[in-house]
Amino acid sequence: MGSRRNFLEKLTISTISIPILYSPTKLFAASTAPYEGPILRVAIMGLGSYGTRVAKAMESCKRAKLVGLISGTPSKVVKWRAKYDIPEKNCYNYDNFDNIKDNPDIDAVYVITPNALHKEQTIRVAKAGKHVICEKPMGINAKEGQEMVDTCKAANVKLLVGYRMHYEPKTVEVIKMRKAGEFGKLKFFQGLSGFTIGDPTQWRLNKELSGGGAMMDIGIYSINGARYMLGEEPIWVTAQETKTDPIKFKEGVDETIQFQMGFPSGAVASCLSTYAMSHLDRFFLNGEKGFVEMRPSTGYGPIKGRTHKGELTQPHITHQTLQMDGMAQLIFEEVQPIVPVDGEEGVKDLKIIDAIYKAAKTGEKVSL
Ligand code: NAD
Repeated sequence: MGSRRNFLEKLTISTISIPILYSPTKLFAASTAPYEGPILRVAIMGLGSYGTRVAKAMESCKRAKLVGLISGTPSKVVKWRAKYDIPEKNCYNYDNFDNIKDNPDIDAVYVITPNALHKEQTIRVAKAGKHVICEKPMGINAKEGQEMVDTCKAANVKLLVGYRMHYEPKTVEVIKMRKAGEFGKLKFFQGLSGFTIGDPTQWRLNKELSGGGAMMDIGIYSINGARYMLGEEPIWVTAQETKTDPIKFKEGVDETIQFQMGFPSGAVASCLSTYAMSHLDRFFLNGEKGFVEMRPSTGYGPIKGRTHKGELTQPHITHQTLQMDGMAQLIFEEVQPIVPVDGEEGVKDLKIIDAIYKAAKTGEKVSL
């Protein structure tokens, strides 16, 4: 298994043929042929753990390139500049990044900072006339998300959310099967999303910066997953919160929430979001004609899964490489992924998060 994993992890976008990832209107299929179209020139804001992963993945992109940095830590900027050959004129800090408006060499900014900073930073980038790719959750509630969407629209820039799973080949295959009716009438989705969080001083456990707890960070995968696996929007939620460590998980920072969602077709979802359990990364979809089991379902991969027809065999490709090439194509050519990655998609998840928090607090069934 180890050697298979190593082998899969070494595969890159340029060395294998990639299955079709987009809806039939405009198909995306990577090839080994040299790419000669436009390159999306991206600045990363927030050079932390995920920013580092995205930058590395972009080394294998054909259509996107890291060309700029926005950081509050000069020592990181020095290191990243050397590693990625980034000119000083493309480097900014959190005070002066509005000046990016005068920089014709940057097309888009990828916001990869703590959740509660996303809204203000996205709005500033949009007002500087650059496209925004923003990490999930795009904001800390639906009101924020909508303001971000409206501002980007008014500024005539694109707003995309870092939903990397919407480009992941096994996930895309399952969505295609669902659209083709291969599972029959869908009845049930289960999403388990969680990990055991460490350092109690990190921003993820500080409501001012995180906007919440596990739900904002990892539970959102089960919400988004329920929507793309079932292909419907929920009409109600119920939720129950459990807190075993009120010192680590302070007021407003959720440790564990179980939640249920009901859909117009009658399908139901049962999900778990937690910062207090490990090995939780599993999706299960059940229909009248078949099923899908994915585990891991949303980690960095390789994703593994099987349906009633057998194992999912699509290749593992670094998620963020596919995502960034796909987003470049979306920005330049309006080529859409099979499930949207735009700001409106982000707002849909935030509306559900708002409702789940309300349901957990009141104990009531909340309509959407
Ligand atoms: P991180 O702590 O590793 O990095 C955050 C970065 O933001 C750091 O470089 C930090 O210096 C910077 N920062 C700027 N202002 C800050 C402030 N006031 N307080 C604290 N840090 C500040 O976190 P991360 O894991 O990189 O997460 C960043 C974002 O990316 C989050 O929104 C998270 O949800 C998202 N994320 C997405 C995925 C994914 O798979 N899509 C994975 C991990 C994280």
